[in-house]
Amino acid sequence: MKCDSVQMNIASYADRSLHPINMEEIKAHLEECEACRAWYQDVLELERIWNDPALPALEEDLTPAVMAMINRRPSPYRPHNRFNPLLKMALASACALLVFIYNGAEFFDAAVSHIGMINEQFAQSISAMLHSVSGNS
Ligand SMILES: [Zn+2]
Repeated sequence: MKCDSVQMNIASYADRSLHPINMEEIKAHLEECEACRAWYQDVLELERIWNDPALPALEEDLTPAVMAMINRRPSPYRPHNRFNPLLKMALASACALLVFIYNGAEFFDAAVSHIGMINEQFAQSISAMLHSVSGNS
């Protein structure tokens, strides 16, 4: 008997509803095939869980409980969700980029001339410092 037909019939084997000949075939296969034996153990375990009296009966209406669980979950679209800071930063950098694209040339010129002025002042003060140092010596 092949593994797939054993595994296909394993639930019927577990509740002993197969023809006795098939029962024997599967039993023999399970003794020599580790994979199907593991499969069989899984089926038995699932069956045990399924029949566990601790599980809530399926006849109960589960909808209110499920809906209550869904309502307790944080909505991904609430205004104070955790994605908001990122969104704000993305918007801020998009705005900055837009401002830069439209005013970039003027901004850059202003920045360059400002840096140039500072450099000039810096050079002058260094030169003044050097003059005073050489004048003292
Ligand atoms: Zn097998």
